Amino acid sequence: MAKVISIAVPKGGVGKSTTAVNLSASFAIAEKKTLLIDFDSTGSSTICLGFEHKDISGNIFDVLSFRRAISEVIYKTELTHLDLIPSKILPVDEERLHKITNNFQLFSHILHQEQFEIYDYIIIDCPPYLQGLTTISLISSDSVILPVKAGKFSYSSINKMIEYIDWIKSRYNSSLSIEGIVLTMYEPNTIVWKMTSEKLNASFSDLIFDTVIPRNTTLCESEFLGKPGVLIKANSSGAKAYLELAKEIMSNNTERNSEHRTLGVAHSVA
Ligand code: ADP
Ligand code: MG
Repeated sequence: MAKVISIAVPKGGVGKSTTAVNLSASFAIAEKKTLLIDFDSTGSSTICLGFEHKDISGNIFDVLSFRRAISEVIYKTELTHLDLIPSKILPVDEERLHKITNNFQLFSHILHQEQFEIYDYIIIDCPPYLQGLTTISLISSDSVILPVKAGKFSYSSINKMIEYIDWIKSRYNSSLSIEGIVLTMYEPNTIVWKMTSEKLNASFSDLIFDTVIPRNTTLCESEFLGKPGVLIKANSSGAKAYLELAKEIMSNNTERNSEHRTLGVAHSVA
C-alpha cells in the first residue's frame, strides 16, 4: 500500500515543487516505486521532470472530470522507479477546477484504485493556497511535508498550515499526520535564518527534520534542464541533502511501522 505524502504550505516560492521533484527522485534512486502528482497549475514539477505542454495529452484534471482513465495520464520518467501525473491547466480550466474540487472524496477514491498498489510512495505537489486542490490532497493523504524558507512570512505560513491540518483531521481525515517541516534554501550564517530557526524551534522543534536542504544552484538548474538535481550533479550539496531527507523519512517510517507492530502484538497478548 502506497504512502501518500502532500507537500503543502499556503505560500509560494518556499521550495514545495523542488522538494516534491527531488524527494521523489531520491525515493526512486533508493528503488522505491514512486508516483509524483503535480497538482499545481503552474506545472513546476512537470517542467522540472522535462515535460512540456506538447508532450502531455492528459493530466490529473482530466481524470477528476471523468474525461480520461487514470492509466492514460501516468507518464514514465527518466528514472526507472519514478512515474509522473503531470499538470497542464489552461486558464479557461480554472473555473472547471473549482467545481471538481467541491467533490471532496473523489480524489481519495481514485488513489485507492488497484493500479496504485504498485507504488511505495505517492508524492503530491500542492499549489500555494489551501482551498480546492490542497484540501482534496490533504483529505487523500497519509501525511504532509511542510517546506519553510527563511523569513517571517514563511514561518507564519507554517502556523497557518498546521492549524489547517488540525481542521482537516477533525472534519475529513483523522489519520492525517505531519511527516515533518523541512528547512529549504538554508544558509546557516545569515541573521534571517537564525531568527527563523529560533521561532521554529520554539514552537515546532519535534516536527523539524534533522536533514536541512542548503541553498544550492544545482537545484535551480532543474527548471531549465528538466531533470532532478540528482541527475544533473549527484554530488551537489542539494542532491545529497534530498537523498538524505528520503533516507530520514524511510527510516522514520520503518520505526513507526515497527512500533505499530509491537503495539499490535502487545494488544493481542493482552
Ligand atoms: P514553490 O513550489 O513553493 O513555489 P519552488 O520549489 O518552485 O517553490 O522554488 C522557488 C524557487 O526557488 C525556484 O526557482 C527554485 O529553483 C528555487 N529553489 C528551491 N529550493 C532551492 C534551494 N535549495 N537552493 C536554491 N534554490 C532553490
Ligand atoms: Mg510549486
